[in-house]
Amino acid sequence: MKFQDFNLHPRVAAGVAAAGFQMPTPIQAQAIPPVMQGGDVMGLAQTGTGKTAAFVLPILHRLMEGKKGHVRALVVAPTRELAEQIHAAVESMGQQTGVRSLTVYGGVGINPQVQKLKRGVEIVVACPGRLLDHIQQGNIDLSQVEVLVLDEADQMFDMGFFPDIRRILQHLPKRRQTLLFSATMPVEIRKLAHEVLHDPVTVQVDLVAPAATVSHAIYPVAQHLKTPLLLDLLQKTDTGSVLIFTRTKHRAKRLGLQLEKAGHKVASLQGNLSQNRRQAALDGFRSGQFQVLVATDIAARGIDVSLVSHVINYDIPDTVDAYIHRIGRTGRATRSGDAFTLVGGEDKAMVSSIERALKAPLERRRMEDFDYEAPAPKKDNSPTRQVRPAKSTRRPNGTTQGREISQVDRTNAAERSRRSRSGARSDIGVRG
Ligand code: ADP
Ligand code: MG
Repeated sequence: MKFQDFNLHPRVAAGVAAAGFQMPTPIQAQAIPPVMQGGDVMGLAQTGTGKTAAFVLPILHRLMEGKKGHVRALVVAPTRELAEQIHAAVESMGQQTGVRSLTVYGGVGINPQVQKLKRGVEIVVACPGRLLDHIQQGNIDLSQVEVLVLDEADQMFDMGFFPDIRRILQHLPKRRQTLLFSATMPVEIRKLAHEVLHDPVTVQVDLVAPAATVSHAIYPVAQHLKTPLLLDLLQKTDTGSVLIFTRTKHRAKRLGLQLEKAGHKVASLQGNLSQNRRQAALDGFRSGQFQVLVATDIAARGIDVSLVSHVINYDIPDTVDAYIHRIGRTGRATRSGDAFTLVGGEDKAMVSSIERALKAPLERRRMEDFDYEAPAPKKDNSPTRQVRPAKSTRRPNGTTQGREISQVDRTNAAERSRRSRSGARSDIGVRG
């Protein structure tokens, strides 16, 4: 299947070429024809498989005919970052079409959005809350919407947006095309699909297995040694951009600071940041200004960061779905990537679940020369200091390593080991 086979309007086809896409991805190959025929479609495919273009191209194609100047397509997405990404895809693929697209989300001034709505746009890409504000204030006329897209429906459900979506639906024409995209298909999505889609064509690609290009490994390590191990891993691994996940906002922030102190160019992304700072973190990560981004699931889910070479789970996620979403950010579309997960004894059950879903064991890895035996620091209140872990000259089983060590090294190791016994390294990765 080639892009030419879709018979897209030449101006839209030119946008595909400008975006640099050679071949449709499997979900695009399957979804674009039924979407272009105008029926309702449910598209299921994991993160990173190209779902955006699967609806953006047919929408642009449709908008080449008919009147401009009113909202004809509405895309609802869960986060501002995703809305911006979809908008960017419209701008890129639609650059020859004259179609205007607007993002609508909260956390930024409402007036610029109102002005742009007044001037006229054909596509609105919106997060539910702010869209409802506009509806209630009478700023937006949705009575001529021909296509509704509910993107990343599973994430919208997780974020509690379904009541908002049901409210939005009441302001849309009954006769319309509805497209629903999701990476997973829990029962709630099935239910929503049943409510909003008429006679849908379901296209589904490889729902559970993550991109085959990703290689997965786990690093068993004690909780208090996670940060030292991570620093070692970053130092010894040839990485491009690295996306690191933590379980909580607090941990994302703290780990970001620890990595920064260790000399990494790092940004952390968590819900507490203002919209400007989130955007600056993301832009800096995309441009390479920050090589490392530390984030929580909510802050990072669905974000397309095409250049990510490594996803590192500092904390294992709570669900297999979350694991697949996280690692969907590396090895996207055509690139390959690595996914590393730091795991403690308490993570055994989750590791087994992931292995079952992947239908393959996760490779266990150990860092050479890393002191896995370093004791947990005492929980005293000594000042926070970033110290690299003492590199043990002993293997865990007690044998000495084969390499020569200088007298200075020996002294330092002895000194470090003495200090760590006395609890001076109280800062590293403790107090979860
Ligand atoms: P999803 O919504 O399924 O998570 P996206 O639509 O965000 O995935 O696409 C993931 C990445 O793949 C983006 O960087 C996008 O530009 C790229 N991509 C999409 N379609 C193609 C294609 N046909 N060829 C190459 N890259 C593509
Ligand atoms: Mg998407």
